[in-house]
Amino acid sequence: KYTCSDLGQEEIVKAIKENGVERVVVASCSPRLHEPTFRACIQRAGLNPYLLHMVNIREQCSWVHAHEKERATQKASDLVRMGASKAARLEPLEAREVPVEPSTMVIGGGVAGIQAALDLANMGFKVHLVESKPSIGGVMAQLDKTFPTGDCAICILAPKMVELSRHPNITLLSYSEVEEVKGYIGNYEVKIRRKARYVDEEKCVGCGVCVEACPVKVKNEFDEGFGQRRAIYVPFPQAVPLKYTVDKANCLHFKTGKCQLCVKACMNNAIDHKMQDEVIQLKVGTIIVATGFETYVPKKNGVYKYWEYENVITALELERLLNASGPTGGHLTRPSDGQVPKRIAFIQCVGSRNKKIGNNYCSRVCCMYAMKNAQIIKEHYPDTDIAVYYNDIRAFGKGFEELYHRVREEYGIEFIRGRPAKLTLNKNTKAVMIRAEETLLNKITEREFDLVVLSTGLVPSEGTKRIAKTLSLTVSPDGFLAEAHPKLRPVDTAMDGIFLAGCCQAPKDIPDSVAQAKAAASSAAQPMATKKVRIEPLTVTIDEEVCVGCGLCVELCPYGAPELAQGQKGGMKAHIIEALCHGCGTCAASCPQKAITAKQFTDEQISAEIVSALAPDNGTHAHKGHHGKKDAEAGV
Ligand code: FAD
Ligand code: SF4
Repeated sequence: KYTCSDLGQEEIVKAIKENGVERVVVASCSPRLHEPTFRACIQRAGLNPYLLHMVNIREQCSWVHAHEKERATQKASDLVRMGASKAARLEPLEAREVPVEPSTMVIGGGVAGIQAALDLANMGFKVHLVESKPSIGGVMAQLDKTFPTGDCAICILAPKMVELSRHPNITLLSYSEVEEVKGYIGNYEVKIRRKARYVDEEKCVGCGVCVEACPVKVKNEFDEGFGQRRAIYVPFPQAVPLKYTVDKANCLHFKTGKCQLCVKACMNNAIDHKMQDEVIQLKVGTIIVATGFETYVPKKNGVYKYWEYENVITALELERLLNASGPTGGHLTRPSDGQVPKRIAFIQCVGSRNKKIGNNYCSRVCCMYAMKNAQIIKEHYPDTDIAVYYNDIRAFGKGFEELYHRVREEYGIEFIRGRPAKLTLNKNTKAVMIRAEETLLNKITEREFDLVVLSTGLVPSEGTKRIAKTLSLTVSPDGFLAEAHPKLRPVDTAMDGIFLAGCCQAPKDIPDSVAQAKAAASSAAQPMATKKVRIEPLTVTIDEEVCVGCGLCVELCPYGAPELAQGQKGGMKAHIIEALCHGCGTCAASCPQKAITAKQFTDEQISAEIVSALAPDNGTHAHKGHHGKKDAEAGV
């Protein structure tokens, strides 16, 4: 019992030393759990750590055959016999170390990316923050207040944005996209496209004279389409960097070849319509992905009539309408007539927890942001009637349950359990009738509201999908980026040296995004602090004589480890970048020429296991009957 304990390990060390043991088989749990423990143990006894083989008789035997004890014991014995034959054929291997460039690229400048960049920069590492939009800030910059405390979002975010832009260890590459990433932990080579702003960042002082001159008005995406901006713009007053950008798609100069009023107005000659994109190359040791989320877009002609009824809006649109720097100066008005709505409904779980649209997950923040916004509305307009249509209320975080009780009891917000089935429009008043089954009352009700707010869920951003492809990152079934292990490696990815922070991994609130960013920064700092990283020797080898350079391995490898290059005797041959190889064996299993061998999974080792599996076990298991030996013989 408890062989993994200190006492158990000491027994193994003693047995190796006293009996001249050359190979060790540990029959216990999954190697994922304790292989490193036992490797270190046999190394202490003077053996090469890779002369260990673990046989999993727990998850793959006793746990799954709990009701068939005798046969499970027989299977365990078979597995151990197989393991012993493999162990006899194990080769000693040596781990290698590669140097690590002490710099990081953070992709995404929302609150998660900002926090990760600041933490690493404060530890003394060089950080390059790449943000695709003209300003950093992400969705948090659009929010009014933040639950559960009611802090003003931009008031707590803006100081961090400014600190980032002034930090001597941080280079901010805004309005930029990562185009290509090659290499491996410690040695990533990155190509970044700096999109042309058509405004020289060095010369622009952010005075805004150009905006007054620009005759073009378009919908302002930062205000979710409610306000307007010009074709030359900064997304919001606290933008970082506070540099103007020409929106090429709407600029008259690009559309008609005329105008240039902004150029004439700018006293610093900062505007240059001939500016070109620039591609820069960087070498970084680690990468943090913080590319965030987007909100779910309701379907056209869907139940909630978002596209059809003016007074049905999303929660992010409400955030902008409530925001003092938003399109209405913080005065809540309904879109159809600019009147203050007296009856407001929130509909929860729009685009979340819905198998029909494939988003099974809970978006985690919408219950709380609905309560937050309901409270803000009640504080400004105490006479408003507010009802929240919900499935379940998820108030799981610190101070969340308290906010739930406060808005119900002190602010009189009504919570109605039931998913609305139909919304209809009163054509005269533009009010919206909600028909719903109120499941707690067990009756169908119809109630009219002046404004309906859809609590739309969080979905992976387009930028997250793009970066998953560029970096070959694994994606979970929900579309968010997959962590290496849901419990023990929640910020790592399957790619060594690449870490996740914030909502690109899953929906989460600001405190959780910040916490994950700090964890990602600390994980990235470890190899950079030691300036080297240990590379596992469990990789594959390619026999150049046998390889015909078909490239199948290059296509199939999930880690991008094989590459085609000129062979020593000419012709294209596959090569393995060992630092990228995880030894998963996909290429070895699929190579049509059998040119690839996975170390510790050679044909010889696996054949030996098969032979042992089929060999009679000293004839001591008469009870095997037709399930055991005979089946094996039939198989042969
Ligand atoms: P984001 O804010 O999405 O930032 C990601 C950044 O990455 C963006 O700047 C984006 O432009 C950039 N990016 C994307 N792709 C790329 C790419 N390929 N290359 C470069 N850059 C890229 N949380 C709370 O705690 N309290 C609240 O009150 C609250 N209210 C909310 C209200 C609403 C309506 C919504 C929708 C969410 C609310 N949240 C709230 C949740 C909060 O917004 C998130 O927790 C937070 O924004 C997550 O930050 P992030 O950095 O992970 O992602
Ligand atoms: Fe639905 Fe609330 Fe989960 Fe959002 S947080 S998906 S509204 S249960």
